[in-house]
Amino acid sequence: MELDALAFGAHRDDIELTCAGTVVKLLKQGYSVGIIDLTAGEMGTRGTMEERQKEAEESTKVLGVMCRENLGIPDANIQVNDENKRKVISVIRKYKPKVIFLPYWMDRHPDHAHASQLVSESAFLAGLSKLYPEMPRHRTQKLIYYMCHYQFEPSFVVDVTEYHEIKMKAINCFKSQIYNPNYQGEPTYISSPEYIESIEVRSRYYGGLIGKKYGEPFLVREMIEIEDVMTLI
Ligand SMILES: [Zn+2]
Repeated sequence: MELDALAFGAHRDDIELTCAGTVVKLLKQGYSVGIIDLTAGEMGTRGTMEERQKEAEESTKVLGVMCRENLGIPDANIQVNDENKRKVISVIRKYKPKVIFLPYWMDRHPDHAHASQLVSESAFLAGLSKLYPEMPRHRTQKLIYYMCHYQFEPSFVVDVTEYHEIKMKAINCFKSQIYNPNYQGEPTYISSPEYIESIEVRSRYYGGLIGKKYGEPFLVREMIEIEDVMTLI
């Protein structure tokens, strides 16, 4: 299956918490999108691997993405090594995405920073024909970084006003992770009511910068070329 876009998350809820509005928007625009979770969440303070798998399956249905795979890389220990690069290169060559979404390269959670490096290096290596020649090479045209904890000056903001509700519904599938007064578990940073509010507030903030209700910020390293200046209107 060839996809227009592949979104990589270090953990099972990362895509939902950061760029799910854009993922749903792409799907509604007719593009094909898949999600790759690098780890299964065995080191999470709350929730078991099985619970988190079920939650991710529910969220996948809410989002409506074409596919979702888990690479089983050790949680809280994402290493930029040959074994993990081969796993990431394999899914890039399998799905041949035109664009890849990945976490911003700096973050408080080391897994997010390492995931960013692992995916960006693998995306480059996937384009080399002599590396793992049993799989045909594939060059992804654009790497698009999404915002986790640390902020950056965005290259662009996507209006996700119409899709904010679906995004929040997908986030709420992760009942063991996010704020849920009915779940008995040790409190964490993302299980506080303030965290879920911060998702809302950030989306309102970036939406406000483009004159819309909700927005998601993204960063690309290359200069963005505009072919038709009138599309800026
Ligand atoms: Zn994460």
